[in-house]
Amino acid sequence: MNKAFAIRLVCAAVAVCLVAGAAVNICLSLRPGTAARVRVPGRNIATLVLDPGHGGADGGAVSVTGTSESAINMEIAERCRALAGLFGVTAEMTRDSEELQYPDDASTIRAKKVWDTKHRTEFINSTENAVLISIHQNKYTTAGPHGCQVLYAPTVGSRELAEGLQELLRQVAGEDKRNAAQIGKEIYIMNHVTCPAVLVECGFVSNVVEAKRLEDPKYQLKLAAMIVGGYLEGIS
Ligand SMILES: [Zn+2]
Repeated sequence: MNKAFAIRLVCAAVAVCLVAGAAVNICLSLRPGTAARVRVPGRNIATLVLDPGHGGADGGAVSVTGTSESAINMEIAERCRALAGLFGVTAEMTRDSEELQYPDDASTIRAKKVWDTKHRTEFINSTENAVLISIHQNKYTTAGPHGCQVLYAPTVGSRELAEGLQELLRQVAGEDKRNAAQIGKEIYIMNHVTCPAVLVECGFVSNVVEAKRLEDPKYQLKLAAMIVGGYLEGIS
């Protein structure tokens, strides 16, 4: 970690504190090597699972700048993990590389995507007391739409977490009245996980201005600050 990034990370951590505010009541288990452990009053210990969407044979949407969505998702998820770490929360990741290993019988891109989606879902459902935040980027057929959109699973606690995140992310990504938290009806993971789960579409890679911002490390850190702050506030 270079010095400039470390300074920006600390600044983002301050933003997380401001976002999460006094509502956050976390008692951290700081044993080295343990996964994310945030004590939630009235619940057992929650584990933050970050899911950088796509990866491997599936690059996701392609930005107007030519960048793959999977790479942007990873950059933002990594910043979320780094920020969460400053709060003693070591997030689990569904992937930590652009390279994915597939079973031999997954020979087509479609088969690889199906295997990967099911594999991630199994991982999330096998994580005790997980709270899932999946990171994606949006794309539309015209250049106009912009801003964040948070989708949620039909599981307990998901809608509340999504609405909180939507409000926070709007402050970074700007107003777009079309963007409101809504249920992720046709998203496999959202419909097959058993934990509180949200999917954050951080912005539109089809919008030239926003696509460039989404590739800016400083903007990625701002998004991460809102996501981690929203998570801490949402699980408190
Ligand atoms: Zn996506």
